[in-house]
Amino acid sequence: MRYEGTVYRPPSEARSLVIQATIGCPHNACAFCCMYRDKKFRARAVADIEEDMDMALAAYGSGVRTIFLADGNAAVLSTDRLVAIGEAAQARFPHLERITMYGSAKFLVKKTQDEWRRLAAAGFKRIHSGLESGDAETLAALNKGVTPEEAVAAYAHLLEADVELSVYLMVGVAGRERWRAHAIGSAAVLNQAPPHFIRLRTFVPMPQTPWHDHWRTGALHLLTAHEALEETRLLVTHLEGPSMLLSDHVSNFLDVQGRLPEDKADILAALDDALQWPITAFRPPTEKLVGLGL
Ligand code: SF4
Repeated sequence: MRYEGTVYRPPSEARSLVIQATIGCPHNACAFCCMYRDKKFRARAVADIEEDMDMALAAYGSGVRTIFLADGNAAVLSTDRLVAIGEAAQARFPHLERITMYGSAKFLVKKTQDEWRRLAAAGFKRIHSGLESGDAETLAALNKGVTPEEAVAAYAHLLEADVELSVYLMVGVAGRERWRAHAIGSAAVLNQAPPHFIRLRTFVPMPQTPWHDHWRTGALHLLTAHEALEETRLLVTHLEGPSMLLSDHVSNFLDVQGRLPEDKADILAALDDALQWPITAFRPPTEKLVGLGL
């Protein structure tokens, strides 16, 4: 397989065939993100992507069931181009169940419902979207490129087209300074357009990013394990669902998961239990993870 630079994919796509449809991210400006800073954004030619699929077919056979299209925000590509990629994949991999890709809210809303339905028919059945926070002030400071209202509109738009949605929230990204607003604002967005999956990961400052400097200068305080659990507790208290809550990322202090609203009481009980644990029962403090590339 051919890959250019470091390639990222969601943990839930660990078993997927990863193919780069874009190089870099068309936004490339989130204050906490350094994933594609060294890449100038461009779309790869469909012919090159087809060649990659042929290589994968030769290497892994026709049994590929899921494909993840890297890099950041492949959803920015035109619908015609994505449909061509989807149809090329379906022609080679008859057991293909879904193709997924990253799509920030600001890009998802640019396609019409008809376009999303065409994409679903071409195999694009699930989108991974980093919201990070539903708090307006935090979103603006992170330079995410959307307001909470725009995120709600984009997610509702996609859900109406029957495409599955997996939304990522970043525990602790608002620091000790705004954790309550961050939790309550995030729940408010996700209650108005409940995604199929809500996935938690915990903020770890990435060197050479503005949000890392924000922390280093003392403007942002990282949460301790107990504070992160308190934030998650507040989030879960306010979440209504229907959604599946997951914490499938190594950065988290606790694996919190369950269906909302059915499992809310159990999730809160697990959080309350963990809130009694000594600090030594959790992973090392977040400061110790800086620079490890989590
Ligand atoms: S949209 Fe995603 S990949 Fe692009 S800069 Fe933001 S977090 Fe990074």
